Amino acid sequence: MTTMVGNANGYTCEDVEGLLDDFLDGELAPWQKEKIEEHLAECGSCAGGQSFEAEVLVQLKDRLRATKAPAELVDKVERVMREVKEGEEAPGDA
Ligand SMILES: [Zn+2]
Repeated sequence: MTTMVGNANGYTCEDVEGLLDDFLDGELAPWQKEKIEEHLAECGSCAGGQSFEAEVLVQLKDRLRATKAPAELVDKVERVMREVKEGEEAPGDA
């Protein structure tokens, strides 16, 4: 399923969230993947893991590697993954 969202100038956070499944499934057109990668490279709130589960990040990293995403972006995702993991493993404060 391919959802047609976004505009010529780049994706918003909502666009990226909506397309993430298709992105991970490799069902998007190359230009769509590019726009998502562009957004993730620039958007701290998306790449910061607010909307991404750790599992999604693992897939995202693989996908980025497979699509030859900029090393900088892969690094960023890896960093976020570590942060998410640490957050999960930290002793609960509840
Ligand atoms: Zn965003």
